[in-house]
Amino acid sequence: MSRQNLLDLLPSELEDLAESLGVPRYRGRQIASWLYGKGATDIEAMSDLPRDFRAILADRATVAVPEIERRTPSQDGSQKLVLRLEDGARIQSVLMPDADRLTLCVSTQVGCGFACAFCLTGTMGLERNVTAGEIVGQVLAARAGLEPGGRITHIVYMGMGEPLANYAATVKSLRLLTDPKAFGFSPRRITVSTVGLVSGIERLAKENLKVNLAISLHATNNEIRDRIMPVNKGFAIEELLEACRRFPVAFRQRITFEYVLLEGVNDSPEDSRRLVRLLKGIRAKINLIPFNDWEGSGFQRPALHRIMGFQELLLEHGIRATVRWSKGEDIGAACGQLKETVEV
Ligand code: SF4
Repeated sequence: MSRQNLLDLLPSELEDLAESLGVPRYRGRQIASWLYGKGATDIEAMSDLPRDFRAILADRATVAVPEIERRTPSQDGSQKLVLRLEDGARIQSVLMPDADRLTLCVSTQVGCGFACAFCLTGTMGLERNVTAGEIVGQVLAARAGLEPGGRITHIVYMGMGEPLANYAATVKSLRLLTDPKAFGFSPRRITVSTVGLVSGIERLAKENLKVNLAISLHATNNEIRDRIMPVNKGFAIEELLEACRRFPVAFRQRITFEYVLLEGVNDSPEDSRRLVRLLKGIRAKINLIPFNDWEGSGFQRPALHRIMGFQELLLEHGIRATVRWSKGEDIGAACGQLKETVEV
């Protein structure tokens, strides 16, 4: 019988587990504080639990934190972490410091099945979904390796995989991250990025999680989006933006639209003007991401004047648009560059 990963359980489920093993529910709360407060990975070390209960628990359960196999620092201060999961599969997380923030980008799948044409991760195909415990395990692993006093302040679901294609684990991990008895992150500091799975966005809208939403848009008409993002054949741009209009956006928050700029594909002034029209009525901000080249991609980054011109047109129309020079570009950790060989 495989042992239960305690990181897959909400604090309330840890209480249920404690009760089912014959001890009072508060023992579950003690386990939660060991896991999330102290980052304990060894049940035996949970010293305020009775010794015989620890033995029973260790027999049934484990604390499976992904192991950091490799850590690659970038010149810009970000770090790519290659993490090995229990079954040998590998995923990546990226730590990105910026002024007083430290953002961790987490993966939700091993590989990805959506095959966006400009994305290196997409060339891997989908190996498997990551569990909720493996998602929050990335936070614990990264946190354990920080310098004294270091603190992860923001989490973005923008690593390998499509979070809403692994819906149940994504939502459970969000509940773990925002539960005051677990990680206690403010939902405003968490962003879920999706390729545009309309059904998933609509479900997420009803979860009352209050996290931020980011949409990988990358094109302004269906013809181009069909070509570079096959998911568009299932959910057209108009349908996607309608779902965004209905999404509950917290006070002072905006939906982020990610737009990778590909020379000669989606970087014309006409594209920029179309983007203005498409986003009407949505509290939006746009992240323009000059394409990060990878061998064999078949795409190129537009010239600087083209990138700045695209941004200027958006700004002139009152749309918040920032050019994101991806972090970790030199270490293959930039947006759309995460790829890892998978060993099962
Ligand atoms: S951009 Fe996102 S959804 Fe598209 S292939 Fe890459 S990881 Fe998958």
